Amino acid sequence: MKKKSGIETQLQHFAEERSRYSGAVIPPIFQNSLFTFESWEDINRAFDDRVNSYIYTRGNNPTIELAEKKITELAGGERAKLFGSGMAAISAAVLHYLEPGDHIITIKNLYSPTSNLFNKYLKKKMNIEVSQVPGKDIEDFKNAIEKKTKLIYLESPSTAIFGLQNIKAAADLAKAEGIRTVIDNTWATPLFQRPLDMGIDIEVHSCSKYIGGHSDVVAGVIIGAEEDISDIYINEFELLGGKTAPFDAWLLIRSLRTLAMRMMKHQENALEIAYYLEDHPKIKRVNYPGIESHPQFELGKKQMTGYSGLMSFLLNTEDFDEIKSFVNSLDVFRIGVSWGGHESLVFAPAVSYIKELSPEQFDAMGITPGDIRISVGLEDSDDLIHDLDTALKSIT
Ligand SMILES: *Cc1c(COP(=O)(O)O)cnc(C)c1O
Repeated sequence: MKKKSGIETQLQHFAEERSRYSGAVIPPIFQNSLFTFESWEDINRAFDDRVNSYIYTRGNNPTIELAEKKITELAGGERAKLFGSGMAAISAAVLHYLEPGDHIITIKNLYSPTSNLFNKYLKKKMNIEVSQVPGKDIEDFKNAIEKKTKLIYLESPSTAIFGLQNIKAAADLAKAEGIRTVIDNTWATPLFQRPLDMGIDIEVHSCSKYIGGHSDVVAGVIIGAEEDISDIYINEFELLGGKTAPFDAWLLIRSLRTLAMRMMKHQENALEIAYYLEDHPKIKRVNYPGIESHPQFELGKKQMTGYSGLMSFLLNTEDFDEIKSFVNSLDVFRIGVSWGGHESLVFAPAVSYIKELSPEQFDAMGITPGDIRISVGLEDSDDLIHDLDTALKSIT
């Protein structure tokens, strides 16, 4: 029997049909909007099996399909569909399971555009009711179930405060109640966390983060069972039209080749920095699931095999000028939103939240003005620590 290749081998070679492309080691980009057919019968056959045929690039395209096959293999699903952004992927997955008047249970500290999608858009347009629970305890979800609950939506670790949910317990609970489950697995990547194996129906990622990893692509993906993903393909994907570009899919194929190496380095750097910050007198708390002081460290160890590079910490000051001065003193860490790329970034949620939210809302999200989020990149960890050390000296 042929040995099943390890994941690093798969990421290089899985689904590549090099003999079709003159042996080219990198697949070409199919930069075309449509595909032509030799005969009436041929196009007819394609329409009969549209999710597996190349007809028009709002549907399928060989470059996009190759990226999807690799991601499917990586996550251990049956089928994946790429979208033009993480939000396009999330909205398609969620709309698939909902009808007007349904109820969603999710966590309190969701990625904020997802929270706006649920609480503002879906509430208004489809009369969807949303219960946001702390999510640390499976009872939180159990107690929130109503007759009209159709979906439990998880984000673990959450990317605002890095709280975890017990994925297997949530999937089991949902199955027993006939409720479907979606998880945003962007933080951990399919490499470090396998929600489909734990019984989750659909796993979504913003590929703009680690899967892309080079800060040159905005894309999203959903992965799940053939039946669900094919159905989404025909409906929410083709009709709402949130497709990705062949060139972006090609960049993702490039990115996947180094995903395993990148994630190991993000983890190594992030752990080193988390321990450094934790011991620093000017830091009150570090929020990172990879260190023992995280309140759910044990759960994390059970359901993840590694940790990525996004974390936050609380400065020992609430003085705005000092917080500002800390952020402005960083040099290697660039100021920016997003995360998961090769470059280290810093973001003070206070910048965006203060404009939009009241102090009470800010508080409800579990964030205070002294919270600083960093995305630890692939640079030399000594340089990153030196950068943080220098900036922390700007706080009295
Ligand atoms: C960035 C992000 C998204 C949205 O992805 P886009 O590609 O920016 O649309 C969704 N979930 C999480 C956790 C994210 O960080």
